Amino acid sequence: CGIVGILGKEAVALPLVDALRRLEYRGYDSAGVATLEGGEIVRRRAEGKLRNLESKLGRDPLNGTIGIGHTRWATHGRPTEANAHPHATGRLAVVHNGIIENFRDLREELTADGARFQSDTDTEVVAHLVTREIDRGLTPLAAVHATLVRLRGAFSLGFIFAGEEDLIIGARRGSPLAIGYGDGEMYLGSDAIALAPFTDMVAYLDDGDSVALTHNSATIYDDARRQVHRPVQKSQASA
Ligand code: GLU
Repeated sequence: CGIVGILGKEAVALPLVDALRRLEYRGYDSAGVATLEGGEIVRRRAEGKLRNLESKLGRDPLNGTIGIGHTRWATHGRPTEANAHPHATGRLAVVHNGIIENFRDLREELTADGARFQSDTDTEVVAHLVTREIDRGLTPLAAVHATLVRLRGAFSLGFIFAGEEDLIIGARRGSPLAIGYGDGEMYLGSDAIALAPFTDMVAYLDDGDSVALTHNSATIYDDARRQVHRPVQKSQASA
């Protein structure tokens, strides 16, 4: 139900949880974060409140400086740890708000193609679709774009990729997503409230937009994959 992403300079797991806490007003049943360690995707997820996730991170910390986080309000699949986001393959991790309406058909297609599903969510088809495109040789951005055209429904998405320490990709259709501009750090979030602890300079993606974030840049594309600019505004949300 809430999405955050940070390309940072220090460990991002606890800042991700802080940002998620600011989205608690939306309601949620489970939560999780994913970062990169030695280029590999690592995750911590927990049922219930953010403090459950936080105590897991206390026992078993994550040190990655780039990551994504999620609070889930289950629509497909029970509110268990296995169904909590981020969903991941060896290639990437993804967080998702909303519903992928054609997930059953996609899941059938991917399963026939050899994908092994680990959850009951609609979201996991996105992880496997993008993975398949990367396996076919596409860049992460091209793989996300090739996947977006296959998806029906309303959603916002955030991705990190194995071996890519300077990349977060976001996309939205019918569900909001904002970019936060920091000083050598960049952020992604469901709204400016989530990003207020980090920055008050935000840009809102338009419907159908996608974005490739690095520590120092945000490259935004519209739904025709043309590069576009969205105005950077000073957010009124208080830190
Ligand atoms: N449909 C997804 C799920 O059930 C995402 C729900 C949400 O927006 O939190 O896992």
